[in-house]
Amino acid sequence: METNITERLKEILGKQGVKVVIIPHISPDGDASGACSALWQVMDKLGISCHLMTCDYFPDYLKWMKCIPDSVSYQQHPIRCKRWLEEADVLFMLDHNTMAREGDLEPLTREYKGKVVMIDHHPDPDAVDLCISDPSMSSTCELLFNVIRETWGEKFIDRNVANSLYAGISTDTGGLNHNSSRPETYRVIADLLALGLDKNYVHEQLYQKNSLSRLRLTGNCLLNKLAVDENFPVAVIPITLQELEEFHYKDGDLEGLVNIPLSVEDVLVSVQITERKDRVKLSFRSKGDIPVNLWAKTHFNGGGHLNAAGGHMPLPLEDAIQKLKDTTGWFFGELLKAKYSSR
Ligand code: 5GP
Ligand code: MN
Repeated sequence: METNITERLKEILGKQGVKVVIIPHISPDGDASGACSALWQVMDKLGISCHLMTCDYFPDYLKWMKCIPDSVSYQQHPIRCKRWLEEADVLFMLDHNTMAREGDLEPLTREYKGKVVMIDHHPDPDAVDLCISDPSMSSTCELLFNVIRETWGEKFIDRNVANSLYAGISTDTGGLNHNSSRPETYRVIADLLALGLDKNYVHEQLYQKNSLSRLRLTGNCLLNKLAVDENFPVAVIPITLQELEEFHYKDGDLEGLVNIPLSVEDVLVSVQITERKDRVKLSFRSKGDIPVNLWAKTHFNGGGHLNAAGGHMPLPLEDAIQKLKDTTGWFFGELLKAKYSSR
């Protein structure tokens, strides 16, 4: 990391009595939550006043992370969040590259007058006062580990910080499955272990706390909903709101489902299309060098990484399913074009 970044960060936080707000992306996942938890703990150790706010909610399965239960939802406490933003000197955007991923908080953060610092690993970050972005990183948590170590030193990374950072690395790589071929990622994990990471505890929290209804929802999706396109190597799982209710859905219950169809040899792309109350959410995953972020960005108001991307569409669910079908040929055509033009 450039020394310039650590200098700038120290300078931005240097004012006596500086006030900080941290914001993750909408529907925070393990990486966003791990980064928010770790950064708040570090701010605490530095004696810096800090608030963590989400546009919606952190899911229950991530509430074991230190500081996450103390976060405040804008949906629940809009006036308090507005005031904190007005008072804050520094706003950290974690694990997202644009304020467009901040849900109902976006209009407020767009007008925000203080300094904005982004720490993120998605391609094409928006311009902010200090942009710490590296798309080669497995996760924001891996990048944040480097930021913390180089700016304030290893002594700021204790067991609870290490646990949160490792949770982000593990969840964003599907348990070190994808996006995790750089040796540096494993050096960071080794360092986290040396600093007190309780890996067994984190695995238990993340992967061994399933409810039976979650397992049955997954089973139902794979048995009754998963379909593979007749002409293209694409698996699709459409999920209705009614099914979610039937299986007592809680936030996080669908985490990881979209990866499962990639275990089939001939499936190269997997898409989950989920009906929500106010819109339809799409999740894309792919194998090898297939850029599903191009599909999400061009047709589904979204974006993301090469192998893991997402987007959304207005209701109804059927329109999103149809649009996916209608654009599948286009997507594979684009891949072929790219292949031949690079020869
Ligand atoms: P997921 O499928 O797990 O929700 O998201 C996978 C990745 O796609 C995330 O890392 C996120 O960066 C990206 N992503 C998901 N939804 C959206 C969206 O609505 N807009 C954009 N720009 N990216 C998204
Ligand atoms: Mn991430």
